[in-house]
Amino acid sequence: MDLRVGVIGTGAIGEDHIRRLTNVITGAKVMALSDINVEKAKRIADKYGAKFYATGEEVIEAPEVDAIVIASWDPTHTQYVIASIKAGKFVLCEKPLATSAEDCKKILETEIEGGKQLVQVGFMRRFDRGYRQIKSVIESGKIGQPLMVHCVHRNRIPGPKHTTEMNIKNSVIHEIDVLRWLLGEEYKIAQVLMPKSSRLAEDGLRDPQIVLLETQSGVRIDVESFVNCQYGYDVQCEVVGETGTIRLPDPANVVMCSQGAHSYEIFPDWSDRFVEAYDIEFQQWVDAVKQGVVKGATAWDGYIACVTADACTEAREKGTIMNITMPECQKFYNK
Ligand code: NAP
Repeated sequence: MDLRVGVIGTGAIGEDHIRRLTNVITGAKVMALSDINVEKAKRIADKYGAKFYATGEEVIEAPEVDAIVIASWDPTHTQYVIASIKAGKFVLCEKPLATSAEDCKKILETEIEGGKQLVQVGFMRRFDRGYRQIKSVIESGKIGQPLMVHCVHRNRIPGPKHTTEMNIKNSVIHEIDVLRWLLGEEYKIAQVLMPKSSRLAEDGLRDPQIVLLETQSGVRIDVESFVNCQYGYDVQCEVVGETGTIRLPDPANVVMCSQGAHSYEIFPDWSDRFVEAYDIEFQQWVDAVKQGVVKGATAWDGYIACVTADACTEAREKGTIMNITMPECQKFYNK
C-alpha cells in the first residue's frame, strides 16, 4: 500500500520533492499540500492530483495523510515538526531542523514525550554516492586517520531572502552534518573568518565566509561558503589522512571538446547536483516509515547541527574562537 504523504511548502524544493514522490520513487502518493503562496500551490495540487489545504496544520491533521514532508521556509520548520509529532505522524523536515538549537530542543522534548522517533532531517548528502565512498575509505583505514578536511560550498546566486547568518545556518549546515557523519566524532571549536566581500553581495550581505571547525580528536576543517560565486553550484570536499587523501568526485558529466577547449557543465544548483542523493533519501524514508522506523539523520542530528551552527554564528558575530559545548546524546536517540 502507498504511503500517503502531505507536503508543506511548494517552493523550489517542495515542488521537486512532489515530482520525486510521484514520478521517481515507489510506494508513495502525495495526497495533500499547502503553501502560503496559494496560487502556485493550487496549480501544483491540480497537476499532481493532491488536495490543497489553506494551512500546514490542516495538512498534518488530514485523515488521508500518513506522513509529512516539510519544505517551507526555515523559520516555519519548528511549528510544523512539533505539530506532526503531536499528530503521531512521521515527518521528513528539510534542513535546517530549526533556526536555533533552542528551537530544536523543543522538538526533541516533544518527540521524547511522544515516546517514538518520528523525525528525519533532510541531510541528503549522507545518501550521496561520493560522500558514501569517502566514508567507506575512511573506515577502511586506507588513508590512515583523517587529519584535515578542506571543503568548498558555492552557490551561483543566493535566494531572495538570504542573509549573512544563513551562509552558516542554511548552507554550511550541510557540511556541519555530513562531516560529523563522515568523521564519526563531535566538534569542539568554531571560528569564522570574513574575507573581502564580493561587490555582488547585495543588501549588506557578507559573502564569502570561511568556517573553521575542530573536532574533539583535533581534525581541522575549513569550509569556504560563497553564495554569490556566479558560475554555478560547486561542492568540494577533500579529506587529508596520514597516508593519503580522498576527494569528492565531480558529478558524472560528459566532457565536451569544442572551440579549442575541453569542458564539462557545472550544474546551476543543488537540484541536479544531488538529484540521486535526494531520490535515494526519499525512497529509503518511504520504506523506513512503512516499517515504522527512522533511518536517516534524526532530530538529535538536526539539534547537534544547530548547536554547531549557533556556535559558528556567535564566533562570527564576536570575531572570536568559540568552544562548542556539545550536549551528551540522550538515551532515547542513542540506539
Ligand atoms: P522557496 O523556494 O522559497 O520555498 C519555500 C516555500 O515555503 C515558499 O513557497 C514560501 O512561500 C513557503 N512558505 C513560507 N512560509 C510558509 C508557511 N508558513 N507555510 C507554508 N509555506 C510557507 O525555498 P526552497 O529553496 O524551496 O527551500 C525550502 C526549504 O528547503 C528551506 O528550509 C531550505 O533550507 C530547504 N532546502 C534544502 C535543500 C537541500 O539540499 N536539502 C535545498 C534547497 C532548499 P513564499 O515564497 O510566498 O514566502
